[in-house]
Parts: sequence; structure tokens; C-alpha cells
Amino acid sequence: MKHRVDQFELLWKNAPSFRKKQFLEALFSETFLDFQSVSVFPKEKRESLAENIPWMMWKKKYIFSAKAKDTYKALLVSPDDGVSIETVLMKNARGHWTVCVSSQVGCAMKCSFCATGTMGFSRNLFCDEIVDQYRFWKLFLREKSIEGEITNIVYMGMGEPLANYEEVRSSLQMFLEYAEIGLTRITVSTVGMLPALNRLLEDPLWPSVRLAVSLHSADEKTRKNLMPTSYDGFLEDLFMWAKKYFLLYPERRRHLTFEYVVLGGVNDTKEHAEKLALFAQRLGKVRINLIPWNATGGHFHSSVNVEAFQSYIKKQGIVVTIRRAMGADISGACGQLVVDKKS
Ligand code: SF4
Repeated sequence: MKHRVDQFELLWKNAPSFRKKQFLEALFSETFLDFQSVSVFPKEKRESLAENIPWMMWKKKYIFSAKAKDTYKALLVSPDDGVSIETVLMKNARGHWTVCVSSQVGCAMKCSFCATGTMGFSRNLFCDEIVDQYRFWKLFLREKSIEGEITNIVYMGMGEPLANYEEVRSSLQMFLEYAEIGLTRITVSTVGMLPALNRLLEDPLWPSVRLAVSLHSADEKTRKNLMPTSYDGFLEDLFMWAKKYFLLYPERRRHLTFEYVVLGGVNDTKEHAEKLALFAQRLGKVRINLIPWNATGGHFHSSVNVEAFQSYIKKQGIVVTIRRAMGADISGACGQLVVDKKS
């Protein structure tokens, strides 16, 4: 059984609902360090919980720290089956912290520029394993007396979150209820899995957190070369989906983000910028996040055109940012998360 709540309900049969709430609150509380210390439970229950339910789903293998101390990357191992994942903690522009969580071990999407894509896919993470990446970093900040709260969570680590729909949805619900992190401070990033994107529009249980679509090109052929999950007609299908999304969420703050890794000589020309701007203009309410290429080996190289690319898009009236390169010295930057299966 992989869900702590299910284990709790088995151990404490017919527990009143407030006990389940206390159980989950304890996991997110700063007060407790293990089940033994959860003083709101009777002693024998504390002992039974401590014996049977893991307080933390991961064991730390390494923590890498960027020289600037603004990014940390952890290699975590599951005591259950020995799989490893990486998760990243980054200081954001307001001096708070953003946690980047992995949702799968490896990834089946095989985006050609991404180190994780070279690992292949091992398995989905369970809700508790996703949530515990956040809990791991929260404890880390406290243990190291590092200032600043975790205010944002991004699902941009290993894996395609929407390919692990139910567990990701449960983790979102848990973050919203127990981590006190609001809807607009959580972002789920996807390659654009349209069946899942359509599903979430009709899913009353899907929390309306921010969504980011890894676009990487508004040119069909280029996108297909970069992302094997793309296909002829993808951009039009995405366009139709986005229109439905905006109908459902008409508020201004419900914009969509397009992630765009800028690859020298591949998708960084004026023509690519024009196609991207046109696509974004047709949709409206789109923001573009340009990601300067982080070397992960392979045949790509960084672009000298990132600023010019941004400037062109901006002139077309579209909000466009360049993501700050963080953690490149510890391979913790976007597209660099990879775990040797033997680590
Ligand atoms: S970019 Fe994301 S979806 Fe694509 S291979 Fe890497 S982890 Fe998977």
C-alpha cells in the first residue's frame, strides 16, 4: 500500500475524520519531526504509526549546493524499491524559495534536448513521494537555518506530470490544503498531453493551478524534431484546447505560460520568433518564458539570439521573460535533471 492515508485508515480503523486531518497536518507541521512526537495522538497510536508508516518517503543521498547558495539539488532514494529522483530548491526573485518537484522516475517523453529524457521511464511517483520532496526541502531550510519560506512549487522536475494524472492531482490537493501554498503559486508544466489537458478541464477535482506548456517551437516541423510527442496538427489542437481553457477561466490572472528553450540555430531565428508571436497573439492571455539552453551534452548549443528574440516578441505586445539561469554549476537547471540508474 503506497498511500500514507490508506495505511493510517487501516491502522486506526473507524478513526473520526478529525484524526485523519490531524495526521496530515502533522506531516506538514513545523512542530513535529516524527510520528512519535505527534502529541495530539494517544501514545499507543503514535507508536503504531511510527512503526508502520514512513514519516518521510525518501532517503537523502546527496545535496549539491550552487556556489551562489541560491540553488540546491538533492538526489533522493526510495527505501522501498531503490529508485532515485532529483528535486531542486531555488531562490526566487522575491527572496523566497521555489521547490521544483519530480513526478516520475525518468520520463517517457524523450524530448531531444532534455537529460531526463535519456533515462527512459521507470515508474510514476506516488502522491506522498511528490509531497515529500517539498517536505524534504522545508526540513532542510529549517535544519540549515536558511532564511525564507517556500512559497512556490513547480512540477518541472523529472517526468511528465500529466502522465501521472491521479497522483499529481492528489499531491496538488494536499499542497493546497496543508502547505498553505495558493493556486497561483503552483505551476504544472506539461509537454502538452492533450487527452490529459482535456480531462482536467472537465475534472471537478482538478485544482486550477497554473499551467505551463512546453512549446519550444510554434513551427510544426521544428517542434516534431525536438519533441517526439508532437504531431502534424498539434499546434491547432493546442490552440483549440487553450480557447476552451480561457472560456473556463476568463479571469485575467488565468494566463497560460509557454515554455520555450532557446536552442542556437534550431528555434532561435527571426522566423521562429514571428511564428511564436503570431501563435501567442491569436490566443491572447499567453506569457512566454524563454529558457536559455543549459548544456547537457548532445548536439545542441546555446543561442546568441535570446535577447533579440525576446525583444521581437515583446514588441508584438506579448509578455515575455527570460528565465534566470540557476543551478547550472550543479546541473540543477532546467533540462539537466538526470539520475544514473546505479546511483
Ligand atoms: S522535458 Fe520534461 S517531458 Fe520532456 S523528456 Fe524532459 S522531463 Fe520529460
